[in-house]
Amino acid sequence: MPDASHSPARPTRQLDVAIVGGGLAGLYAIHRLRGLGLKVRAYEAGSGIGGTWFWNRYPGARCDVESLEYSYSFSNELQQEWKWPERYGTQPEILRYINHVADRFDLRRDVQLNTRIKVATFDSKANEWTLRTEDGEEIRARYCVMAAGNLSTPRVPDFKGIQSFKGKWYHSGLWPHEGVDFTGLRVGVIGTGSSGVQMIPIIASQAKHLHVFQRTANFSLPARNGPMEPERESRHKAEYPARRAAAAETPFAIAGHPKPTQSALDVPTDERNRAYESKWQEGGSISYLYAYTDLLVSKESNDTASEFVRNKIRSTVKDQKTAELLAPKDHPIGTKRLCLDTNYYETYNRDNVTLVDVRSAPIQEITETGVRTAAGDYELDAIVFATGFDAMTGALREIDVRTTEGAVLADHWAGGPLTYLGLMVSGFPNMFVVTGPGSPGVKTQMIASIEQHVDWIADAIDHLHRHQLDRIAPSADAESEWVNHVNAVADSTLYPLANSWYVGANIPGKPRVFMPYVGGFDRYKKRCDEVAAGGYPGFTLSRHESVVA
Ligand code: NAP
Repeated sequence: MPDASHSPARPTRQLDVAIVGGGLAGLYAIHRLRGLGLKVRAYEAGSGIGGTWFWNRYPGARCDVESLEYSYSFSNELQQEWKWPERYGTQPEILRYINHVADRFDLRRDVQLNTRIKVATFDSKANEWTLRTEDGEEIRARYCVMAAGNLSTPRVPDFKGIQSFKGKWYHSGLWPHEGVDFTGLRVGVIGTGSSGVQMIPIIASQAKHLHVFQRTANFSLPARNGPMEPERESRHKAEYPARRAAAAETPFAIAGHPKPTQSALDVPTDERNRAYESKWQEGGSISYLYAYTDLLVSKESNDTASEFVRNKIRSTVKDQKTAELLAPKDHPIGTKRLCLDTNYYETYNRDNVTLVDVRSAPIQEITETGVRTAAGDYELDAIVFATGFDAMTGALREIDVRTTEGAVLADHWAGGPLTYLGLMVSGFPNMFVVTGPGSPGVKTQMIASIEQHVDWIADAIDHLHRHQLDRIAPSADAESEWVNHVNAVADSTLYPLANSWYVGANIPGKPRVFMPYVGGFDRYKKRCDEVAAGGYPGFTLSRHESVVA
């Protein structure tokens, strides 16, 4: 690999805005910022656009937000004309949609594929960012938009002996494009988060035998996927603009779920269980967690919802020892990302599937022939790591972000990520972050958050230009006030009770800080709107002296 510290092989490109990432966020940023007449370009490490949906091609990969919701809203024509074949979009279908959007809005000409940004430096005197790619290309831009994703840095645990394994191994987030056929193989899946829960039933149907290595049981609800009902589609499309507006008034940025009005504890047990049953039959996670006002803030209330699902697991899985292992008891439902599945628990009734508890007997090493746990060896032909990501901060951690004033993002975030509104970082002017730490993104319909963030960023840049200004940076005070608020909101909920990637618990040594804003999309958007309307309090807006009058 060429040394990126040497002089660039190609002439430096000069932009108004450099965008890191060519997924849903980067693509919308191109569209929106281009609309302001700005010269923009997105840099994408993959050989295709689509981000998450480009990389995560594991069997069964599917979005667990309904397809009519999980789509861009910025063009009514687009949302009217696109036809989603199923209630939940599959990975290939979503990728097809993203490619369609790129073509329809002519976005591709401003995406540079196979290009990983390694260094980003803000030059205070020149008032511009210089980005350097892995192969030494240099890009200069007044503004930089980090749209590199929040679950985009796959993590394979540092198991001893992994390189000695004679079979093939895979990570859910780096899946081979040609697919993998597990027919007749002895397969091990490590990890039972959203990715594991989606792939396990499908791999089980192919493999000779599947061992699932579970450290922590997760709650999963039935997705109840199916073909798109034409009536549902046409009704939704007729109401699209109103539904999108209504979604913005909800915590998850998803419309169609009546706002709960009662505590779970104010309802007689029978009635409550009937409500849970109806949500269980309806499918989807929002509807279940939104059944009562306090499922995510009162442990006692949450216990009722958790126990209902545990009982579903017990009545689905025939072997009661397996059922008890699958029934989560260490965290309240919803405090880790709630999984959606198709036949997940039923899969454990198959003769060719074995659940291995690696909480009581942890994985010690990967051997030439399989997995060794404290309880014994498992012979495998293939291992699948569904072990998650360095969430929220991983993608930015992989870029050496610094300024000529001596600020280094890795140092600034050494004790956990600090942002103002999740959108900017103090000491790093003109650098915007999309759906990173401090943003509600991962707790919402992601595309709604992406559009809201990018719109806010575009409006901020437009505001600067209209006022002959060219620099924006949050104050350290505003940043710490926001981080305190993010933590205070999280502490008023049950979320901190779980060892989740929301707190970085899955990465050894990562500072344990609650990263997403769980105050709700509605509250967040209101705050962002107020900040913009109020002339950007908490930010310093300035005109740099090198600007020619
Ligand atoms: P994840 O939720 O972080 O799950 C990783 C799994 O691997 C956990 O079960 C974890 O156990 C296990 N694990 C990690 N290290 C391990 C080790 N050393 N030994 C044994 N087990 C280990 O990752 P994910 O399933 O890829 O999902 C990440 C996020 O991506 C989701 O929460 C969701 O936001 C998103 N996602 C969404 C969809 C969808 O929309 N349908 C699908 C996939 C992913 P512990 O819990 O004990 O750490």
